Amino acid sequence: MSKKKIALACSVCGSRNYTITENLNRVERLEVKKFCRYCNQHTLHRETK
Ligand SMILES: [Zn+2]
Repeated sequence: MSKKKIALACSVCGSRNYTITENLNRVERLEVKKFCRYCNQHTLHRETK
């Protein structure tokens, strides 16, 4: 089973704060609220290609 690494970037400052590994069964685009240490608050993080 192949997996790929995905970087989650802050939608406010664009910093790639998190990387996750996931399988390919996902359909929807990933959007997660996570803490950004550059913005010093919780912001929406999106996957980057
Ligand atoms: Zn940020």
